[in-house]
Amino acid sequence: MTADFTKRLTETLLDRLEVLAWGHPRPLALHEPEFSGAEWDYVRDTLDSGWVSSAGSYVERFESQVAQACGVAHGVAVSNGTSALQVALHVAGVGADSEVLMPSLTFVATANAVSHTGATPHFVDVEKTTLGICPKALADRLDAIGERRSEGLFNRETGRRIAAIVPVHIFGHPVDVDGLMAVANSYDVPVVEDAAEGLGSLYKGRPCGSYGTISALSFNGNKILTTGGGGVVVTDNADLAKRVKHLTTTAKRPHAWDFEHDAIAWNYRLPNLNAALGCAQMEQLPDRLARKARLARRYAELFRDFDGAAVFSASPDCVPNNWLNAIVLDEERAGARDALLDATNSAGFHTRPIWRPMHSLTMYADHPRGDLSVTNEMVSRVICLPSSAHLADTHNGVPQS
Ligand SMILES: *Cc1c(COP(=O)(O)O)cnc(C)c1O
Repeated sequence: MTADFTKRLTETLLDRLEVLAWGHPRPLALHEPEFSGAEWDYVRDTLDSGWVSSAGSYVERFESQVAQACGVAHGVAVSNGTSALQVALHVAGVGADSEVLMPSLTFVATANAVSHTGATPHFVDVEKTTLGICPKALADRLDAIGERRSEGLFNRETGRRIAAIVPVHIFGHPVDVDGLMAVANSYDVPVVEDAAEGLGSLYKGRPCGSYGTISALSFNGNKILTTGGGGVVVTDNADLAKRVKHLTTTAKRPHAWDFEHDAIAWNYRLPNLNAALGCAQMEQLPDRLARKARLARRYAELFRDFDGAAVFSASPDCVPNNWLNAIVLDEERAGARDALLDATNSAGFHTRPIWRPMHSLTMYADHPRGDLSVTNEMVSRVICLPSSAHLADTHNGVPQS
C-alpha cells in the first residue's frame, strides 16, 4: 500500500505544482535572481567612472543599506557569505583550540567558516518548528559538557574553550531567538548569527542579523537578493566593525603612499561593481518581501488538506522573508522523499532536499556532537519547492498585486 500512496502523493504534488506554475516557462528553477530596478544604471556608472574595484562609493552605500535593513549601526561588505561568517567569528574571539556550537542541519559553509578560523564545529540538534538550533538541546549539551573556568566556558571532554554559538535562520525562518539568547546569556557565550538566508526576516518585529554580537549575510546568486557574489558583516559594535573592515582589506594603515600592514589579514573586499548591483537590489527589498509573502500564501493555500505533507510555515512571533518554500512530509511518508524529488525534477520543477547534515560528511564525521535525532529525522522529510518571486506575479495567467 505504501507504493500506492507514494504514487498518489507524487501525482498530487505534480498537480499542485502545475497549478502554481501555470503560464510560467519550464524548467522552473528553485530560486532565480531578479534585476528589475536600477541595476543597469548603477553598474554602468561604475564602468563609466572606472571605479569597478575595491574602492568606490557604492560599497559604503550598500553597507549602510544592509545595516539599516538589519536594524544595526554598522555593515562591512565582503566577498561572500562564507568569508563574512569566518571574519565575524574571528573578531568575536573564535580561533584555534576553541569550539563553536552550531546546528548540523545547515549549508556546509557554516561549518567550513568555523573550521577556517581554526576552531572545531560542535553539532547540536534543531527543532521541528523552526528547523533552527534547539535551545533545549543546546542547554542540555552545555549542561553535559560545559565547565565554567575563570577564562570562560570549556568543553570538559575535549579541553577546548566554547567560544561561540552559531544559529542559522533556515530558509529565512528565524530561530527561537528568545530561547537561544537565554541559554547563550546564562552561559555567557557570544552568539554569531549565520543570517545568510535571513535578510528581511523578523523575530518579534526585530530583523535577523540584529540579535547576535555580530552577524553574517550572503548575497550569493541564489539568495533573496544578490550582488552576483557577496556578503555583509553587520553589528552594532563599532570596534568589531572597524576590525572587520581592517582585516578584510589587508590590514593596511591609512597613509598617502606607504605600505604598512599591521596584521596577517585577508583580501575579502567586495568590488564596487558588485556593490552597485547590491544598492539596486536593496532598493527592491520591500517589494521582494511582499511578493515572496504572496507566494508563500499561495503555497499554503495549494497545500491545505494535502494528504501526506504540510507546508513548512512560520512560527508565532516570526515574519520570515520566505526565501525558500518547503514541504515537510508526514513522519510515516519520509520514505517517499527521493521518489518525489525524482518525479518533480523530471517534470521540470527544480525541487531539492535539505542539505546532508554536517555530521554525515566525511570531514565532519568525527566531530563532537550532542543527540541529533531531530536533525536525522527532518533530513528525510523536507523538500524545497520552486520559490522565485516572479511566481507570485500571476495566478492562472492573471496579473496579481
Ligand atoms: C549561502 C549560505 C552561506 C554562504 O554564503 P556564500 O555567499 O554562498 O558564501 C552560509 N550559510 C548559509 C546558511 C547559507 O545559506
